Amino acid sequence: MDYKKLADLLFPNVENIEYYLKKYPKREKKEGEEILRFAPSPTGFIHMGSLFAAFVPEIFSHQTGGKFILRIEDTDQKREIENGIENIIRDLKNYKFIIDESPMNKGKYAPYIQTQRKDIYLSFAKYIVSKGRAYPCFCSEEEIQNMRSIQQQKKDRIGYYGQYAKCRNLTYEEIESKINNGEKFVIRLKSQGDFNKKIIFNDLVKGKMEFPENDIDHILLKSDGLPPYAFAHVVDDHLMDITTITRADEYVSSIPYHLEIWQAFEFPVPRYAHIAPLTKKEGTTIRKLSKRKDPEAAVSYYSELGIPVDAVRLYLATLLNSDFEMWYMQNPDKTIKDFEFKFNKMSVGGSLFDLDKLINISKVYFSKKKAEDIYKETLEYTSEYDKDFYEIVKNNKDKLISFLNIERNIPRPRKDISCYSDVKKETSYLFKELFTEYQIEKKPFYDANILEDYFTNYYNVNDTKEIWFSKIKELCPKYGYASETKDYKQSPEKYKGSVSDICEIIRVAMTGRTMTPDLYEILKLFTNDQIKDRIKMFNEYLTK
Ligand code: GLU
Repeated sequence: MDYKKLADLLFPNVENIEYYLKKYPKREKKEGEEILRFAPSPTGFIHMGSLFAAFVPEIFSHQTGGKFILRIEDTDQKREIENGIENIIRDLKNYKFIIDESPMNKGKYAPYIQTQRKDIYLSFAKYIVSKGRAYPCFCSEEEIQNMRSIQQQKKDRIGYYGQYAKCRNLTYEEIESKINNGEKFVIRLKSQGDFNKKIIFNDLVKGKMEFPENDIDHILLKSDGLPPYAFAHVVDDHLMDITTITRADEYVSSIPYHLEIWQAFEFPVPRYAHIAPLTKKEGTTIRKLSKRKDPEAAVSYYSELGIPVDAVRLYLATLLNSDFEMWYMQNPDKTIKDFEFKFNKMSVGGSLFDLDKLINISKVYFSKKKAEDIYKETLEYTSEYDKDFYEIVKNNKDKLISFLNIERNIPRPRKDISCYSDVKKETSYLFKELFTEYQIEKKPFYDANILEDYFTNYYNVNDTKEIWFSKIKELCPKYGYASETKDYKQSPEKYKGSVSDICEIIRVAMTGRTMTPDLYEILKLFTNDQIKDRIKMFNEYLTK
């Protein structure tokens, strides 16, 4: 068969692939520079799974000084949703992805939306036909169904291959007459593989793998001229000069087929890294994190709580390489950019998505932030998610910054805040509007006179911390408490308690909590009137 003539018959008005190979030349890359892409289908919103799938190529490209590309794979138009592309781009931008080339910023290798690359696919399909590595297939849906039922009956492998590949042996004349009859066709790979032979494949994450060769004549181009995933990714990844293909590990079993397409073109094969899905522990089982079942899979979950994007990114980094977490804890001044991530340190079975861990990382992240920044960002957050608290935040800048500064700029800063909504939780007792009742698990037996006496006769907001504390000690014996904890420990029968119990009474009365940041600093945030009010409120609560 004259394959060139066949190619001209099937694709009379199509550019030569040389045209595209010249139009999209190889990039000028420095040694080690990687070009990676995230290639989602526009089928929905970004969720944790897809955020991670985008994070992997972004990190691995940029850490080599390379480029991160966004390509939209929309050849399966049945699955598409309205505004799918806009949503993806918006979500990635919100999560601070630096996208070097995308449908929005139009890089040199545009278009980045597959349905706009139809002419390119036709050209590459024509080329592969002209090399005798692909052919037209005119089988109807019904014929394919019949073939499948026969294969099922005979317990044969399902697929268009070997003796089942009816159109593989059509003559030029037969093809020509079908085309003249206006019959629709698809283009199929003319597989040269042997299912009984094995191929070895090296995956960057999974390591060395062995598969049977492909012998299925898969469809490369549908009758509408658009390619299914396999053919499209080879053409695009080649033309966009992608150096490493990262993608979900559900694709790994198709590797023999994908490699055969690369070989048919005689293009160098990029590296592949197959990424396991994020998983979740449910009781004793581990399953895939589900965007339908798991609320924490939605990115909106984090924005509503007020977990900062940078904290989520830090958590994604721990999912990427688990040793990142330890490194980050030990190197407080460094950022994700300073860590060297490696494919072979990625989890083969899938990283466990653990919300508690994310929250912990976020606490560490907050503990390193400047109080002024937390204040500013809380203002932004509340303006969108908590209008009532927003007014309080706006009107109490100094108080909140002073609160946030307590135990902050020290070697082991406090870690009570994991998200912007925690600012309200942790400071509510400072505001009359928010502190409306005591919610103490067990009503304490406190001598309320102590408070009255302490705040009228001992407490002075201008005291240094030492004087402040010595005054509390001074008050202790008057009410039967030990000024020194060690005295109390030695003879507990002699006292009602110790100085730390007095501190607790003050703390609980003022804040309604047994644990707060440094009490001396907290008290400074109360005005005299507030103190009076609180004592009154506490007395009422105790006597109720
Ligand atoms: N479009 C494919 C998907 O959404 C991505 C495959 C790839 O990254 O190569 O599953």
